[in-house]
Amino acid sequence: MNNRSNVTLNYQVLVTRNQEQHNLVVKTCPSHKKVYQSREQAEDALIEARAKFHHAPGGGPVAVYQCEDCGLYHLTSKGKMNERLSKQLAEGKIDLQKEANRWLDRLKHRK
Ligand SMILES: [Zn+2]
Repeated sequence: MNNRSNVTLNYQVLVTRNQEQHNLVVKTCPSHKKVYQSREQAEDALIEARAKFHHAPGGGPVAVYQCEDCGLYHLTSKGKMNERLSKQLAEGKIDLQKEANRWLDRLKHRK
């Protein structure tokens, strides 16, 4: 019985800790930009944003950076392109080129 109540107590401590962490997650920045807890999270969001939305050349987020105000990560459209993103874009370009070549072949064969 004592053991059981100890487990319950530990569980409650755990829940409280999770709630504290959750409060950290919704921490905002004075810049009002969306915040990410880690560079990895920000990079994932960056790549997802590029994959989901069509950005004009030179537009849209290209990199992540650690903020001096909040210490967390934001996306930015300025600066050098993120390496992971540029790699993904390069790979996407190759696919596009393949597709273009496939269509060119079809047009050639039609003649
Ligand atoms: Zn910030």
